[in-house]
Amino acid sequence: MDLGLKDRVAVVAASSQGLGKAVALGLAREGTRLALCARTASTLEETAAEIRRETGVEVFTRALDVRLDGEVERFVADLLERFSRIDICVANAGGPPSKSFTETTMEDWRAATELNLLSTVSFARHVLPPMRERRWGRFLAITSMTVKQPVAGLILSNSVRSAVSGLVKSLSNEYGPYNVLVNSVCPGYTATGRLLELAQKQAREQNVSPAEIEARWAREVPLGRIGRPEEFANLVVFLASERASYITGTAIAVDGGIVKGIY
Ligand code: NAD
Repeated sequence: MDLGLKDRVAVVAASSQGLGKAVALGLAREGTRLALCARTASTLEETAAEIRRETGVEVFTRALDVRLDGEVERFVADLLERFSRIDICVANAGGPPSKSFTETTMEDWRAATELNLLSTVSFARHVLPPMRERRWGRFLAITSMTVKQPVAGLILSNSVRSAVSGLVKSLSNEYGPYNVLVNSVCPGYTATGRLLELAQKQAREQNVSPAEIEARWAREVPLGRIGRPEEFANLVVFLASERASYITGTAIAVDGGIVKGIY
C-alpha cells in the first residue's frame, strides 16, 4: 500500500526517545520530512542523526519544553517558514508520575494538566489554522490505554488524558469540514524508558525486580507480551497517511488487547 506520505511535512513532539522517536522513524521510512522537538538538545540531535542516516530524509530539530506555549508557537512559525506547510502533527509529551489520589497534591494536578492537556492544546492552536487553510491535515494525540480503562496508581494519567480525548473529539468536529482529521492513539504497555521507570517504581514498592513487574504486566495482556514502540508507530503512521482519509474523531488502542471493554 502506498501511504502517500512521501515529502509530507510532520512535526513529532517529544520525540528524542520512546514512542515519539518510533513514530518519527516510521514516518521517515515513508519519506516524510520531519521536525522533532524534545527538551534535551544532545539526545534530540542523536535521534535526528540516526533517522537521517537510516532514511536520508530532512530532519529539523528544536530543543524545547512542550509546556511552554511561546516556545511551541515559535517552533511552528519557524517550521512554516522553512517548509511552507505542516501536514501532520503528532502531539506527545512525557507522562505524569504514578501516584494514588491520596498521594497527589494540587501542584501534581496542575503539572499533569500542563504536561499532557495544555501541551496538546498548544500544538493544536498553532498547527490547525495552517492545516485548515490548506484543506489537508492530520492531528494525532498520543494518550494512553488509561482513557479506556483506568490503571491503578495512575490517577493523573487516567484523569488528564481523558480531557485530551474530549479535546480530540471536539476538534474532529470543528475541523472535519476542512479535511483536517483529528484522532488519538492510546498505547498499552510498550517497551520504552517511561515503562521501565514505572516498573522500577513498582519494583521498589513491592520489593521485587523490575523484570518481575514487567512479566506480571505481560501476563495481563491477551497477546502475552509488552508491545514494541514500532508496533505503536505503525498505526500512527497509517493514521497520518493519505489512506486514512475517512477516519477522524476516534481513539484507537494499540495495547495487545488489554482493554477489556468493547469500545
Ligand atoms: P518516554 O519517557 O520514553 O519518552 C518521552 C519523551 O518525551 C522523551 O523524548 C522526552 O525527552 C520527551 N519529553 C518529556 N517531557 C517533555 C517536555 N516537557 N517537553 C518536551 N519533551 C518532553 O515515554 P514514552 O513511553 O515514549 O511515552 C510517550 C507518552 O505516551 C507519555 O505521555 C507516556 O506516559 C504515554 N504512554 C506510554 C506508555 C508506554 O507503555 N510506554 C503507555 C501509555 C501511555
